[in-house]
Amino acid sequence: MRKKVFGKTDLMVTPVAMGGIPIMRLSKKEAVDVVRKVLAMGVNFIDTATGYGDSEEKIGEALKERRRQDVVIASKSPASDKKLFLEHVDLSLKRLQTDYIDIYHLHGVNSEEKMKEVMEPGGAYEGLEEAIKEGKVRYPAFSSHHMPEAKKLMLSEKFDVVQIPFNFIDTEPEKEIIPLARKMNLGFIAMKPLGGGLLEDANLAFRYLAQFSGIVADPGIEKAEEMEEILRVIEDPRILSLQEKKKIERIRKELGKEFCHRCDYCLPCSQDIPISSVLLVKSVVKRMPWQNAVKWLDPAIEKARECTECEECLERCPYNLAIPELLKKNISLWEEHKKRAAETLP
Ligand code: SF4
Ligand code: SF4
Repeated sequence: MRKKVFGKTDLMVTPVAMGGIPIMRLSKKEAVDVVRKVLAMGVNFIDTATGYGDSEEKIGEALKERRRQDVVIASKSPASDKKLFLEHVDLSLKRLQTDYIDIYHLHGVNSEEKMKEVMEPGGAYEGLEEAIKEGKVRYPAFSSHHMPEAKKLMLSEKFDVVQIPFNFIDTEPEKEIIPLARKMNLGFIAMKPLGGGLLEDANLAFRYLAQFSGIVADPGIEKAEEMEEILRVIEDPRILSLQEKKKIERIRKELGKEFCHRCDYCLPCSQDIPISSVLLVKSVVKRMPWQNAVKWLDPAIEKARECTECEECLERCPYNLAIPELLKKNISLWEEHKKRAAETLP
């Protein structure tokens, strides 16, 4: 598969990476098998995180008999302070069975407060600089769902790679972030190219992204066949047909009323409800192991039951989502999933 230089790094990467969240759900043997099959298809880029359960360990196992320089590995730490960040880097190295990681992200810089914490003296960014100096990490990166912070971090000129959600529903990066990444020659990783599992048509999703040259799409992969389907689209680089464009518009209209972009502009909620977490039920259930989904969603759903319908959040949501109504819908959806799990899981 064709590879391109990734921004200002000296890495040659394929236009698609393998996202490491869904392999958490697989046994070690299955996960190793999927990673190896994906690499055998020619994909040379794997993205994981310290926070993705045993994903790093499984990837490390899959890669241990390969030439290290043939694969580009990206990982992440959610730490805010330098000490914990450096501990995470060492943990990633150990789990991935390698002595360097190509791209390491400050994970989820989604608010001004978090940005200040990671960038202040003694913050995680200092840890990232130190890890680079020690040769443990090659290129500094961050991931974010929040465009204002993403823009500020890009303009700080301290990062070589950025990772932001981007798909045909989540189009905000098209306005400023992608042009800025291009202008600054930064590597751009499109997180959630399938809308976190909500967009089911790989042809539409990846043909849409293929319009933006130089970006790397980072779909979470659970089965080798999923990557095969994506590669069929990527290796047939025709533009979107009129019919496909119409289909995208239709899906945008249908999902647009419910699709939470996780920007958190709606916060703070007077009842401290983590709104975006509650609106993610479908995506979390689809991508995470059941135990993790329960750990993530149970407390959020309990808080959501306290919604007073004060509607204060409504005017803050730039996508005009009917938040109280969607909270109720997601509570019901979660209850249905739990009922089904109780009937089917051992
Ligand atoms: S309507 Fe519900 S979710 Fe929105 S601010 Fe009020 S309590 Fe919070
Ligand atoms: S509900 Fe609206 S404002 Fe809140 S995170 Fe989702 S998209 Fe953003």
